[in-house]
Amino acid sequence: MKIANDLAVAIHYTLTDESGETIDSSAGAEPLTYLQGHANIIPGLERELEGCAVGDKKVVTVQPADGYGEHDENLVQAVPREMFSGVDSIEVGMEFQVQGPQGEQFVEVTEVSEETITVDGNHVLAGKVLNFDVEVVDVREATQEELEHGHIHGEGCSH
Ligand SMILES: [Zn+2]
Repeated sequence: MKIANDLAVAIHYTLTDESGETIDSSAGAEPLTYLQGHANIIPGLERELEGCAVGDKKVVTVQPADGYGEHDENLVQAVPREMFSGVDSIEVGMEFQVQGPQGEQFVEVTEVSEETITVDGNHVLAGKVLNFDVEVVDVREATQEELEHGHIHGEGCSH
């Protein structure tokens, strides 16, 4: 069976950045399962997997526009330090969950000064060229319920 829209797919993958450093990998863990054609995974990867079959291995390079988007300067904001009054010490690299226009989102502290804290709401992989080393391990028909929900139901999933 070849990967096509509305099929349930399982892949093992290793994600590396442009310098070859591993960002994420399913090696030694359960494969990633997703529903093809339902935007479960980034568009650049989904498109390249179409037509692949079990056992196929592929290296896919995804540009930011087909991945987690370009880095958006508008999502980088300097906010008054008072907004973090409940936090003992603020350091670069800390992550906070904040209420944004599209609901809850994560921001990362990128700069700390006496008056202001600079936070970046971009996805940590925004603006990056991503290399996926992928192996297709399973392709099956999705259940009716999975199609209605637009995602795969793994073991122990009950929504
Ligand atoms: Zn569901």
